[in-house]
Amino acid sequence: MTSNLQTPIDYLKGVGPNRAELLRKELGIHTYQDLINLFPNRYLDRTKYFKINELQRNDADIQVIGKIIKFEEIAQARGKRLVATFQDETGSMELVWFRGQKWIRESLKLQTPYVIFGKTNWFNGKFSMPHPDLELLEEHQGSLRSAMQPIYPSTEKLNNRGITNRVVNKIMQQLFVETSGRFVETLSPELLESQKLISKSDALFNIHFPKNQELLARSQYRLKFEELFYIQLQLILKNLIHKSKIKGLPFDKVGNYFNSFYTDHLPFELTNAQKRVLKEIRQDLGSKAQMNRLLQGDVGSGKTIVAFMSMLMALDNGFQACLVAPTEILSVQHYNGLLEWCNKLNISIKLLTGSSKTSSRREIHETLENGELQILVGTHAILEDKVKFKNLGLAIIDEQHRFGVEQRSKLWHKGPSQSEQNTQGKNTIPPHILVMTATPIPRTLAMSVYGDLDISVIDELPPGRQAIKTVHRYDKNRLDVFRFIRDEIEKGRQIYVVYPLIQESEKMDYKDLMDGYESISRDFPQPKYQISIVHGQMKAVDKDFEMQRFIKGETQIMVATTVIEVGVNVPNASVMIIESAERFGLSQLHQLRGRVGRGAEQSYCILMTSHKLSSDSKTRLETMTHTNDGFDIAEVDLKLRGPGDLMGKQQSGILNLRIADIIKDGDILKTARACAKQILETDPTLSKPSHNAILFTYKQMSKYRNIWNYIS
Ligand code: ADP
Ligand code: MG
Repeated sequence: MTSNLQTPIDYLKGVGPNRAELLRKELGIHTYQDLINLFPNRYLDRTKYFKINELQRNDADIQVIGKIIKFEEIAQARGKRLVATFQDETGSMELVWFRGQKWIRESLKLQTPYVIFGKTNWFNGKFSMPHPDLELLEEHQGSLRSAMQPIYPSTEKLNNRGITNRVVNKIMQQLFVETSGRFVETLSPELLESQKLISKSDALFNIHFPKNQELLARSQYRLKFEELFYIQLQLILKNLIHKSKIKGLPFDKVGNYFNSFYTDHLPFELTNAQKRVLKEIRQDLGSKAQMNRLLQGDVGSGKTIVAFMSMLMALDNGFQACLVAPTEILSVQHYNGLLEWCNKLNISIKLLTGSSKTSSRREIHETLENGELQILVGTHAILEDKVKFKNLGLAIIDEQHRFGVEQRSKLWHKGPSQSEQNTQGKNTIPPHILVMTATPIPRTLAMSVYGDLDISVIDELPPGRQAIKTVHRYDKNRLDVFRFIRDEIEKGRQIYVVYPLIQESEKMDYKDLMDGYESISRDFPQPKYQISIVHGQMKAVDKDFEMQRFIKGETQIMVATTVIEVGVNVPNASVMIIESAERFGLSQLHQLRGRVGRGAEQSYCILMTSHKLSSDSKTRLETMTHTNDGFDIAEVDLKLRGPGDLMGKQQSGILNLRIADIIKDGDILKTARACAKQILETDPTLSKPSHNAILFTYKQMSKYRNIWNYIS
């Protein structure tokens, strides 16, 4: 008889209520199923037994057979330690415990053969092993064991309470005994065949008790594939269901606005990438489904004009459009840029931010609701409930990183739904949504985190751009750097000098900024030189005033904190100096650098640092000086910071993988996504008999939050 995998862990022989409680609390193991899915972190070779006289100083993970001769308690600075003398026929060593001494003393037998396992230290002229893993030799020889000893995730508390790795291993064995090691297959026969995957039962057995390296590797592959496959299946299905369920506003035609802009006012030839992306967007807008698209493109790749032309499609079909940016400065800049184009086309456009005056707000609210206003640009202020559109057809969010999913969904309810139709309970039709990212996201990460969105990529920079030259300079080279700045200003260029501003040390950072500003002012005196300064403690109006002076070219140097990080566009600025560059993250450095190189002139980025650099800082600086490609930089960033940090906690659910690794297993991820896609293309409802296992497993997904709870 096989046990039900939903059986509470308490019922497993050898567990009992106390251990069950600990397993629940420490590892989240509630059922047999949870236990079976507790995958080892790593494996150790336990085929080799050492003699004590063979031990090397600071050997790692050593296994010795011997007997405990005596125990001794030794007082130390705080509390005491328990020391056992352990002997084999070649010599003796010490076993040491700093915690759990009572339990150890009572449970271990003297003069009885044990196998000890752990890390050795060389201490006071003797070998010792702190907190060894012990097992009676007799049990050791009788147990289900393989050359590769699995090491399970654990916690200090579990170890202290006697649930050592060996104990976990033992209860795992018991679980295989009680279930006969037979588990329901969760993938289709075709997948097993085409991907050459081993069966579920074989994979689970060999992940816990690997018979050999090859089987272990195949088990790991199968389980990683399965984990990624079901995540991708879920994401793609979400996208499909979304498209079939969520009606989109019909943008049937390309009309006057778009055509007139395209033929008469296009400021430059679009790149092929821009054209391709516009086609993808056009296709979405023309389909009957709501668009939910992510637009990725490196800094300066020209996302803005794509956004604008998409808005024109909305206007051509009689709808309104809005563009939401994360900061006031950015939204002002977008507004000014778009205003110029809108004037040529006779389109009404307004700006709404936190600092908009009440009177202009009132006018915006009014004209939005009666439909006179066609385009609204602004900050989060647009998301407020008071802001109601007559018929919002397209909402664009720039610089997605700073926007949460919640905010994205707020925009949904600003469609024509907000009008009378909605109050009468009619169907609501959400606006089409286009999300633009500031920084490229590595492909594997994008597939996981945004796997339910359609993705467009602008992978080509406008022609004629000169690559920005990036160098790393130490603080002591400052005079040279100043000389260089002077020459550039002489040529009519403008300069950014950026200081870090990191919340915890705000005061210090502020002082650094002010000191820097003073020293620059001394070297670049008025009236010959004019300097702007912008930082977080200034009022919005003052910031804007200073920004405007720089944009108009009235000042040559802009000293700022990272408020200028995203999106600011001053084509005449050709030098970006980043102070304390070691304190910035890679994507931030890349964003900052993207502020220059926007005009025709050769541009430069100078990374200033002190002499003391961590190895991560060095990697970041080297990456910056070696490449300008945002996608390459994103890959390095992912390796340095890990996926959770890169994408923020919000998405950690999807990134919380049991066995697969989003960085190392990118290839498996791509295969798994392709398989999921192919299956859904031929059988979107998973109703073919051969997809039974997949459908069943997928259905379980809605019941349990943790992916492995439905996979078994
Ligand atoms: P980002 O993708 O970073 O938002 P922008 O849309 O701000 O980039 O564009 C960066 C600069 O490149 C702007 O000055 C814009 O006018 C210019 N630009 C965009 N597309 C092209 C193109 N196809 N040809 C020439 N210049 C372009
Ligand atoms: Mg932009």
